[in-house]
This record gives sequence, C-alpha cells and structure tokens, in this order.
Amino acid sequence: MALGKDYATQECSLASALEVVGERWTLLVIRDALYGVRRYNDFLVHLGIPRAVLSARLKTLTEEGILEKRRYQDSPPRDEYVVTELGIELWPALRALAVWGREHFTESRLRYFRHVDCGTELGSYGECPACGTVVPAADVLLTPGPGLDPDPADPVSRALLKPKRLLEPLETDHV
Ligand SMILES: [Zn+2]
Repeated sequence: MALGKDYATQECSLASALEVVGERWTLLVIRDALYGVRRYNDFLVHLGIPRAVLSARLKTLTEEGILEKRRYQDSPPRDEYVVTELGIELWPALRALAVWGREHFTESRLRYFRHVDCGTELGSYGECPACGTVVPAADVLLTPGPGLDPDPADPVSRALLKPKRLLEPLETDHV
C-alpha cells in the first residue's frame, strides 16, 4: 500500500510537526535561516536546490509562520525570509538531529557551535556543559571546523568562514 501524502490519521505530536517540517529540504532551509541566510539567491546557491522546490518550501514555511517574508528593496521589489520565534524554537531539535547524524553517519566536523559567553562547545541538545544552561540560539557562536571545504563559488560558504552568531543576518558578497 502506498503511503499517504500526509499523516492525517496519526494523532501524534511528532506527526503534526512532520506535517510542517517533514518534506525533503525543509529542515535544511530552516538550518540556513538559523545561520542567518535570508536572501532567495543565497538559499539557492548554498543548498543547490531546484528553484521550484525552494520557492515551494519558502512559501510553505512562510504560511506556517516559521519564516517571515520582509520587503528589503522596492525597485526592483526584493523580499527576504527571516526566521521567526516559531522557527527559532526548532534549533535544539536541529542541533540534536545534526549531532546524531555526525556520530553515526558522517564523522567530519564542518562547524563548531559554542556558547558565546564562555566559548564551550554545546552539548547534543544545545546546552552549555560548562554553564549548565540551555543556550538561546542568539548566544550560539558558529565557527568553521576542520572538515569544512567551502565551495569558492558559494557566497554563503565563504561568509561562514568567519565566526558568527546564529540568527545574525549573514553578509554575503556575490562575485
Ligand atoms: Zn557556557
């Protein structure tokens, strides 16, 4: 029997979450938004995603209130996508999923996530082992790891070579 397109028959909170974020690429779009990516072309180049798929994901995430569309230029009209509080709440889940992926499937350290206040690397759920606190996404410092091999044609990869806080808008230079 083919799987249904949604989980309407599942009265489970995980199924409800997957209705919103369970499509292919969606969590990667949210990850980039947490990194501070806001512009359509930056998502496009960094993810290497087909335009139609990116447009569909951005539309869904905006409709679901995870991203907010903001006009940043009037002529020609240009919008950017800013992660909302609802989206920021996904950070610990993304962190846990990424740590699980690294421990079991990839092993390479592309990036480090540290507590801005003390420099300690975060634990699996985004907590600071030194301070014993859950670190808000805005207080997480993102730095390059030894396994990082940035694509020189990707302005997001280039911009992420410099340490930055999560959520701060990423300044990219398109060349
Ligand atoms: Zn700390």
